[in-house]
Amino acid sequence: MTERSQFTSLLEWYRQEARDLPWRHSRDPYTILVSEIMLQQTRVETVIPFYHSFLDRFPSLTALARAPLEDVYEAWAGLGYYRRAKNLQRAAQAIAQRGSFPNQISDLLQLPGVGEYTAAALASIAFQQPAVALDGNALRVLCRIFGLRSAAQATLTRRQLNRLTLPHIPVGSASDFTQAVMELGARLCLPRQPHCLACPMQSQCLAHRQGLTQQIPPPGLARPRQRVELLALRIWHGHQILLERREEDPFLTQQWVTPWFFAPAQHRLQQYQRSFAGHSLQYVGRIRHAVTFRDLEVDIWEWHTDQPCHLSHQKFVEWLPGQTRLPRLASKVINAAPCQTNPR
Ligand code: SF4
Repeated sequence: MTERSQFTSLLEWYRQEARDLPWRHSRDPYTILVSEIMLQQTRVETVIPFYHSFLDRFPSLTALARAPLEDVYEAWAGLGYYRRAKNLQRAAQAIAQRGSFPNQISDLLQLPGVGEYTAAALASIAFQQPAVALDGNALRVLCRIFGLRSAAQATLTRRQLNRLTLPHIPVGSASDFTQAVMELGARLCLPRQPHCLACPMQSQCLAHRQGLTQQIPPPGLARPRQRVELLALRIWHGHQILLERREEDPFLTQQWVTPWFFAPAQHRLQQYQRSFAGHSLQYVGRIRHAVTFRDLEVDIWEWHTDQPCHLSHQKFVEWLPGQTRLPRLASKVINAAPCQTNPR
């Protein structure tokens, strides 16, 4: 059985080699909450500038809790997956109302947008509580170290990894332990080609010792990427383009975006053609955009209309590139250059 001391080399490596990331300079649970929510499904390099600008704008939990939601969305614009922004503010409001930041996993799990991984990350990083934060990277690293490879093990993996890992978290070092596992998964214990020869855990890692790094973690653990086809519309009114804000958008909740639908969506296209009658429909082209585990393939159509908007959640806006801050998907749709091929 793996001994507690077997993770010492990982902690030493982390303390010497860890990347200098801005959220690692703070023990303030609010800033750690912001970083953890931003890092959900998003790369570190992408998050860093948003983390700085968001905290410049909302430097405290109270500032975030009291801000208009519009301002929060504006500060989030470009980071994607906007439900996180709404949940982050709702979490800040719940904590403000409660009067103190919860430090127990069971209480953290009550906060909007905080699931098992984020609760464990917060409890360990901000409060030094022994907890195993299992995102995709940590699952891969710990499955390899403990040699979990069978399908039967995979179904129990989270519970099993908690049971195997918790006794090895040194008292007072839970924060470093969580971040060390994350760091190892991001830099050395990579999905396809782990750098085992440079790894501080190579002599303890069962997958490495048994030559099983390609078989572990077992297939069903990683969430497969999903290909999704969408149809997006560019409806022009002179130099203005139609934007709309949708309450229940799966990717861009409450953001002003060009109309889009899951394909096939001929009937929705026809509805918009009736509402905004005008010139003939043109195929612009296809763009690709990744959102969390989905690869979106977006066919763009456009036309010009003379009709005004009648609904409060729709508006025509002047479009000059760089002038309006829009979610990246909407900007990509608007900026896509027309191609010559009509797929019909
Ligand atoms: S030895 Fe290799 S497989 Fe094991 S934890 Fe290190 S990088 Fe990952």
